[in-house]
Amino acid sequence: MTVPEPRASAPESTDPDWSEEPTPVCPEDLSEGTWELLRAEAKRAMTKAYVPYSNFPVGAAGLVDDGRIVGGCNIENASFGVTLCAECSLLSELFMTGGGRLVAFDCVDGEGNTLVPCGRCRQLLFEHGGNDLVLNMPSGRAPMSVVLPEAFGPDHLAGAPSGHEAKH
Ligand SMILES: [Zn+2]
Repeated sequence: MTVPEPRASAPESTDPDWSEEPTPVCPEDLSEGTWELLRAEAKRAMTKAYVPYSNFPVGAAGLVDDGRIVGGCNIENASFGVTLCAECSLLSELFMTGGGRLVAFDCVDGEGNTLVPCGRCRQLLFEHGGNDLVLNMPSGRAPMSVVLPEAFGPDHLAGAPSGHEAKH
């Protein structure tokens, strides 16, 4: 089973098996089938990568709590330091398609092998998935609380004293 292509490549509407909507996925059901869908999307996204300098394409896919699957690829730049990781474009798609919380995440290299998110991207993913986001890592599936333990996040800012009300 594959994740549908964007609408721009939609076949004739006479195809009874085709739907404009993404394949529905139950976020509570992190079955092998769900992980296969994520892997398929990560591999598809990887083929879109812009990597003329490193030739190291990366694809990422995330399951959203409403069942959507969003993807992203890395996008390099001649000014190397501003290169975008695949997780960056994944989060752009997350917000451009309605937002929500990430519940599962997968990432692949150019060979389709499982890849770890870099340190910065663990922080990016934590913001939108929290400690319960399940990541497919080379060593196995693990929650974000293991992948990025004791993470700094929105709760720290919410609990911080503000301005002159700061504790003495
Ligand atoms: Zn990264």
